[in-house]
Amino acid sequence: MKTRSQTISTTATADDPRWQAIMERRKAADDTFFYSVKTTGVYCRPSCATRLANPKNVAFHASTTDAEQAGFRPCKRCKPNEAPLAMQQIDRITEICRLIERSDQPPKLENLARQAGMSKFHFHRLFRQHTGLTPKAYGAYQRTQRIQQKLRESSSVTEAIFDAGFNSNSRFYENSDAMLGMSPTEFRMGGPTGELRFAVGECSLGAILVAASSIGVCAIFLGDDPQELVDELHARFPSAALVGGDEEFERLIAIVVGFVEAPSMGLSLPLDIRGTAFQQRVWKALREIPLGTTASYLDIARKLGKPESTRAVAQACAANPIAVAIPCHRVVKSDGQISGYRWGIERKRRLLEKEGVN
Ligand SMILES: [Zn+2]
Repeated sequence: MKTRSQTISTTATADDPRWQAIMERRKAADDTFFYSVKTTGVYCRPSCATRLANPKNVAFHASTTDAEQAGFRPCKRCKPNEAPLAMQQIDRITEICRLIERSDQPPKLENLARQAGMSKFHFHRLFRQHTGLTPKAYGAYQRTQRIQQKLRESSSVTEAIFDAGFNSNSRFYENSDAMLGMSPTEFRMGGPTGELRFAVGECSLGAILVAASSIGVCAIFLGDDPQELVDELHARFPSAALVGGDEEFERLIAIVVGFVEAPSMGLSLPLDIRGTAFQQRVWKALREIPLGTTASYLDIARKLGKPESTRAVAQACAANPIAVAIPCHRVVKSDGQISGYRWGIERKRRLLEKEGVN
């Protein structure tokens, strides 16, 4: 027996690959074309959830303008004349980010979700997809930025804590280590205080600066211009007294340069690693990547039990102050491509080459 659909499949519309996309309600086809239905007078996106039309009444349009010039109205369900859903969602998530940034107190998830016009579950998932962080972690990150700024500007630690929106000292102190990686007073003093010895040398990658506190090496910077590296050191440790290295210190530089040129020699210097709790965890994971191998940002995020945090991992890599000794150059994109390096992609490539990674 011959069915109706077999008859229809002989029409031009039914043979068109675009009709297949409509039957599958294929999202990927959205915005590549639109279709109108003669009997209803409306036009739709291919993914529209509306009842499937009879293909003999269907026409295809390259744009919404085409469809409207042909006399069709936009469907109320798939709103083909509005920005694609994905774009609308990104816009809404971006708005919510700004809202979190402006809030003194961490906003409640249900309030954010309502503001975004989504369910709590859907909002949480989308937010994480777009920012790499949960709304809560994003809020905490923003407050960290704010408290750091206030600590630099305010006349006292207490004033800074209240200015940054913490309603009690104790709530702030509970989190201060995670946010600052040091005590607030230390932070106001510009991080590690006291003397930092430093020297600038030359290696095959250009200028190299090594600085150390009484605890260990706290900075290894690479660059083209020695003076820029010294300025960077000042900016990073504004309250430390920078003291030019003596002969003993020159030996330290020689050891680091030797390691840059021949990584297989290994480097076992005492380090003075200062960073937030999260940065410290990332940097520890980086130091566990064996010489001559690479890991992806996702590998590191997974290792920390936070597979959704690849962006935060990338940020921690970019903030690493101790080049080479904390081998952030061994972190590459998931497809193995070399991307972003605080001291230039070309230096990253050369460092990996020296380790025998291609
Ligand atoms: Zn529709």
